[in-house]
Amino acid sequence: MTDCIFCKIAAGEIPSQLVYEDQSVVAFKDLSPKAPVHVLIVPKKHIKNIAQFQDEDKDLAAHIFVDVVPKLVDKLGVADNGFRIVINTGNNGGQTVPHLHVHLLGGRKMTWPPG
Ligand code: 5GP
Ligand code: ZN
Repeated sequence: MTDCIFCKIAAGEIPSQLVYEDQSVVAFKDLSPKAPVHVLIVPKKHIKNIAQFQDEDKDLAAHIFVDVVPKLVDKLGVADNGFRIVINTGNNGGQTVPHLHVHLLGGRKMTWPPG
């Protein structure tokens, strides 16, 4: 999508602090981190949010959660102490960038419930 900031980051047109990349996904540090570790896992394909997943996205969804998350939490050193995965969705969900992204937060004790 031409006017999407995460499409541009995924395409390398806007710089980011990349921590992971493969054929279908990038992960980069959040510009405004809410924890010592705060990375966004972003599919290269423009999907607005998790409610817009299609049948054709099953492999991508599995790839993110089965392959990428375990690899990243190991690499970032948060696997043992724990971490939080967040997918803000739509207006009430607090989504501000309309391109699906998975927040990976760690490095501190999280509180519950979230605000
Ligand atoms: P949301 O509120 O949509 O769940 O999360 C969007 C996240 O993207 C926010 O945590 C925000 O700090 C981050 N963000 C917004 N613009 C940029 C950017 O240009 N670069 C990076 N690295 N993060 C961004
Ligand atoms: Zn996009």
